[in-house]
Amino acid sequence: MINAREIIRKKRDRETLTPAEIAGFIDAYVSGDIADYQVSAWLMAIYLNGMTLDETIALTRAMRDSGQSLNLASIRTRKIDKHSTGGVGDKTSMIIAPIAAACGVTVPMITGRALGHTGGTLDKLESIPGFDPRPSPDAVHRNLKIAGAVIMGQTEDLAPADRRIYALRDVTSTIESIPLITASILSKKLAEDIDGLVLDVKTGSGAFMPTVADASALARSIVSVCRKIKTGIVAIITDMDQPLGRTIGNALEIRECIEFLNGKAPEDLETVSLTLAAYMIYLGEAARTLDSAYKMAYEAVSKGSALERFRKMIRLQGGDERVLEDTHLLAHADNVQEFRARSDGFVTRCDAKLLGLASNALGAGRNRLEDTVDPAVGLHLHKKLGDRVRRGDVLCEIHWNQTNRFHDALPLVEKAFGVNAKPGNRRPLIHAVLQG
Ligand code: URA
Repeated sequence: MINAREIIRKKRDRETLTPAEIAGFIDAYVSGDIADYQVSAWLMAIYLNGMTLDETIALTRAMRDSGQSLNLASIRTRKIDKHSTGGVGDKTSMIIAPIAAACGVTVPMITGRALGHTGGTLDKLESIPGFDPRPSPDAVHRNLKIAGAVIMGQTEDLAPADRRIYALRDVTSTIESIPLITASILSKKLAEDIDGLVLDVKTGSGAFMPTVADASALARSIVSVCRKIKTGIVAIITDMDQPLGRTIGNALEIRECIEFLNGKAPEDLETVSLTLAAYMIYLGEAARTLDSAYKMAYEAVSKGSALERFRKMIRLQGGDERVLEDTHLLAHADNVQEFRARSDGFVTRCDAKLLGLASNALGAGRNRLEDTVDPAVGLHLHKKLGDRVRRGDVLCEIHWNQTNRFHDALPLVEKAFGVNAKPGNRRPLIHAVLQG
């Protein structure tokens, strides 16, 4: 029987826990032998005193082993996933999963829903009529063999310790802890039976880790764990000071993904997507060099093979593939209001967090997991940081359905944009790349 009180004391007194103690503690929690208040005290001790790399690895493994893992042994090609720490207008999953699949990599991608100011890939995909985010285990195998990519929601039995611990962290102010975030992200990803992971760590106003220093610390922690447990990893720190691409909101973002796969892409979305896809292809050993992986990713779009993979993936998950030819089949809002510049100059603020909150206020996101989303609403940005504007130019379109929600969102959009006589400093799109 595990001595929970002693394990909490050790962490409180900055002693190092053994892997057996950590595994026993997590096991006992999942089995109901340790109370939430004891786990909460332990989490706070970790938050305050940190964890060694070996402790973080033990926690990651214990959380991964708290439930069922996928078993993809029957699939021969390498299995690579991408995880993003979350952003605004971040629609890269729907773009790079089909690109990587078209280049010979298998992509079993488990993803989440919108929460707070950030969007969720599952909500975006559900704006495709009929799309099923919960294929059965047999369907996952079949779809991976045919389409090479599946994007699905987390099941109840995948890393259940993480779900319970995350809920406790949320109400005990212990979210912002590098070892806890590392174990949380990796336990879920490793339960997918993957050979490698590309991690997109966002930094900037719309990111969970606003400073480059914090984003780098998280990236280093995740890379160190993966290196020790021999899972391929590349962590890319990308900018999230302004939204990625031109759209925010579920159906609007799907439309932008379809345009991308048809060869029409805004520059920032293209750079980030092709970089992430290239690392997936490289980690998946489908290319010998990163340069050739990048070229393969580019050609998968220009030659249409990525779009065909996306079509197969949508069809196999029950979605209406006709949306690829006719985006009018996606939900659209009843009203579109243009928001215009009030002076001449350059866009010096296009704040990701405020625009994410505005889109959420329109109904595209949720404040609690049980809230429902409106697939049609959101924002279409006509101007972004550094763009020259004249008074009266449209800065963004607001797609809305409910008057009260429109009035909640408008002040956020007003605050999000800044126009000044001089252009501001440009931030890099890719801040750093760390390889395992
Ligand atoms: N995302 C996760 O999955 N877990 C965390 O702890 C933070 C972000």
